[in-house]
Parts: sequence; C-alpha cells; structure tokens
Amino acid sequence: MASPDTSSIHDVVIIGSGPAGLTAAIYAARASLTPLVLEGEPSSTGDQPGGQLMLTTEVENYPGFPDGIMGPELMINFRAQAARFGAKYETVKASRVDFTERPFKIWVGDPDADDPTYRAKTVIVSTGAEALMLGLPNETKLTGHGVSTCATCDGFFFRDQDIAVVGGGDSAIEEATFLTKFASSVTIIHRRDELRASQIMQDRAFANDKIKFLWNSEVKALVGEEQLQGLIVENNQTGERTEIPFTGMFVAIGHRPNTDLFKGQLDMKDNGYLITQGVSTRTNVEGVFACGDVIDDYYRQAITAAGSGCKAAMDSERWLEEHDD
Ligand code: NAP
Repeated sequence: MASPDTSSIHDVVIIGSGPAGLTAAIYAARASLTPLVLEGEPSSTGDQPGGQLMLTTEVENYPGFPDGIMGPELMINFRAQAARFGAKYETVKASRVDFTERPFKIWVGDPDADDPTYRAKTVIVSTGAEALMLGLPNETKLTGHGVSTCATCDGFFFRDQDIAVVGGGDSAIEEATFLTKFASSVTIIHRRDELRASQIMQDRAFANDKIKFLWNSEVKALVGEEQLQGLIVENNQTGERTEIPFTGMFVAIGHRPNTDLFKGQLDMKDNGYLITQGVSTRTNVEGVFACGDVIDDYYRQAITAAGSGCKAAMDSERWLEEHDD
C-alpha cells in the first residue's frame, strides 16, 4: 500500500465499504468529490471489506438482477462502479477519529500518533453492523452454505427442508415465522425454557404448527464440511447431546453496530446504533453523516443500506456547497 497523502484535505472520506459506503462513493464520485473510501481490513473476527454481503452466497432480492447475483460479485461491482468515477480506496481500518473540529481527523494504525492519517471536510460513516454469531469452529465457513443470519435474504433457499433458528427474542420468532413459508419445519433452539420475545410474537409462534421448540438447548457443533448437514445440540439441564439433521441454521441472537470508534463523539441510541436527524443522514456533528446498517436496527437490507448511502452522499455534497469556501 502506498503511503497516504496526509497533507491534503479530502472533501469526503467514507468509513466503511458495504452497500451504503460504496453507494455513497458512487454518488460522491459522480459529483466530482473524489471520495476516499477506507474500506476496512479482513480480520479473524469477521471484519470484511465489502461488508456482510461478502459472507453471503446468492442474492436474489437486489433489484436489477433477475437471475440473482453472488453477494461478493455484487460488492465488487459496486466498488468498480465508484472507482470508474474517481473514488479512491485504502484497505485500512480507522483506529481513531476526532470530530471535534474541522477538518475532521482520522487515524489508521497507532491511535496515539500525533498526526492523523487523513483529514476531511466531511465524513460519511458507513461502518455497518454485524450479526452476532455463536462462535462455533466452522460457523463462518458454513455461512452461506446452510448457516445464515437473514431469513428475508435466504429463506427461499430452504424450501421443504427441516431447519433451525437459534435465539429466543423477537428476531428469532420473526425469522422462524417467516421461514415457515418455505421450510417443512422450523425448530427454535433456545438456551432457556421461556422466550424473551414479546407476548404477541410468542403467541404467533405457539399457534404455528410448523414451529417446534427445543428448550434449554444449545448448539455445540455444526456437522458438515462444505454444507451444513446437522447440529449437535446439548440440553443444558441434563447434558445430553443429540445430533439432529438440520440443513439450515438461522442465527438470530442479535446484532452489534460497529460504532465503538465513535463513542463520545456521535450520538447513539442505547443499543449503540447512530442517531441521524429526521429523514436526513446528518449526525449531531455538522459535516458528519451516517448511513446504512450502522443507523438501521430494523430493516437491515442491502437495498435499504444502498438507498441510505445515496442520501449521505447528497447530504454531504449539499453541505460542502453551503459551507466550503
Ligand atoms: P434480543 O432481544 O437481544 O434476543 C436475543 C436472543 O438470543 C435472546 O433470547 C438470548 O437468550 C439469545 N442469545 C443471545 N446470545 C446467545 C448465545 N450466545 N447463544 C444462544 N442464544 C443467545 O435480540 P433480537 O431478538 O435481535 O431483538 C433485538 C431488538 O429488536 C429487541 O428490542 C426486539 O424487541 C426488537 N425486534 C422487534 C421485532 C418486532 O417487533 N417485529 C422484530 C425483531 C426485533 P436469552 O433470552 O437467554 O438472553
């Protein structure tokens, strides 16, 4: 990697390179702002330039692709489209930001270094969120091959199969209920003997003939090398372990937004998601915008993230027009 030019002040620095960040890059680049995208670095903990779609296989609900497209291919296309109009990329992860004065400062590497690595007139935060996983050995490898974190995205691939959903909150019940449209049966595997989900969601699940429950149960191992073939489930009261031939496992134990970097600088909800103003992507700091899953604890779709990235680029462009002399 070439050393960054620390002397220049960028019009727009985009932190994060999922659908939101790269759509922001396309729009900002076409507005001749030459955005710099800090696209992140792959890590053992699942960090991934390109975001969560890099961990999926086929995407069938992104408009414009009637035959579907592989998640990584879609993100490579997003990236190339922005590059075509002049977006620049650095495969680095921001380690510290200072939004207290303009130009904003962003560090990569040593967060205690005196000089920031980048300076920017506006910043677009699109660091996304990650689905919490169980932490089992081959879980990442089997993601997209039987293991999923998004029923809306992948439910269709599990037609007439026996599948499991892990978790006991509203997400688990919502995913399980949605999955009954496709699957032969959906078994909710929950570590306690009562659900955390709201009563109305629970009632819906209990009334659904296709939904079964495994209480006091924890998934201890995934069976299958290339494709999920079953789960080893342990009853945490008796210690008994059983192998059950599920061909799908949806993990619905919550999400975590990637916002640690912005604590104390950007306003966040109690659950860590960034707060934006009204329908805009403006944060509490003038000139800093946020978009995509990092502000969205509800829809969490590639297309909604992309739409939000478009808004962030337009907000940033307008802000520069009004403030940049
Ligand atoms: P959540 O409410 O935090 O529930 C997470 C569930 O996963 C809990 O049942 C928890 O078990 C279980 N869990 C956590 N870590 C686990 C682990 N390592 N292994 C096994 N199980 C684990 O998360 P959520 O369901 O994603 O919901 C997040 C928020 O969004 C909630 O406020 C929810 O009400 C809201 N939401 C609302 C709707 C709706 O209204 N339509 C839909 C989805 C989400 P314990 O119960 O034992 O802690």
